Amino acid sequence: MIAVWSQELDNPAAYGGYTVDAIRPQLTEWVNRTSGTLTFRTTQILTGHGCFDKYLCRIVGCLPSPDCRQCGAPDTALHTLVECAAWAPQRFELETHVGPVDSLCDLVKAMLQSSDNWGAAVTFCETVMSLKEAAERDRERSPAARANASSRGRRPSAGTRRGRIS
Ligand SMILES: [Zn+2]
Repeated sequence: MIAVWSQELDNPAAYGGYTVDAIRPQLTEWVNRTSGTLTFRTTQILTGHGCFDKYLCRIVGCLPSPDCRQCGAPDTALHTLVECAAWAPQRFELETHVGPVDSLCDLVKAMLQSSDNWGAAVTFCETVMSLKEAAERDRERSPAARANASSRGRRPSAGTRRGRIS
C-alpha cells in the first residue's frame, strides 16, 4: 500500500511538488493513521488545487490575475496557509493549537500528532477556504465576470476537484 502511494506521489500529473514534499517524509504515518478524515477544503490546502487565484488563473483559466485579492502576492495554498496577512486571525488560532506552521510539512506533521491538531487544521482550512470561496462566488456574480465568461463561452468555477488524497 505504501509502495503504491509512494509511486503515486511520483506522478507529477496527480500531485505537485508542494504536496509531495509535505507528505513523503511522513508517508507511513499518513497511510497508517487510524483517525482523521479529510474535508474537501482541507484537501484544497493540501493539494494546492482549489480556490487560489494563481490556480484559478493559470490552471482553470477563469481569472485574469494570479495575485491574491487580499494582499497582491501570488495566491497559492502555501500563501494562504503561512503568509497572507488576511488570514492572520485564523492562523493565530491554528498555531495556538498546533505550534508554528511555516510550511505544509509542518501542518501535516502537526495533523498526525493528535486528533486535536487534526481538528484545528480542518477548522483553519474550512474557515479560510469558505471565505475565499465566498469572495470568488461574489466575483463570479459580478457583471464584469459574467460578460467575460460568456464572451469566452465558458462559466468560471471555483472549487474544482483535482488531485486526491485519502
Ligand atoms: Zn494574500
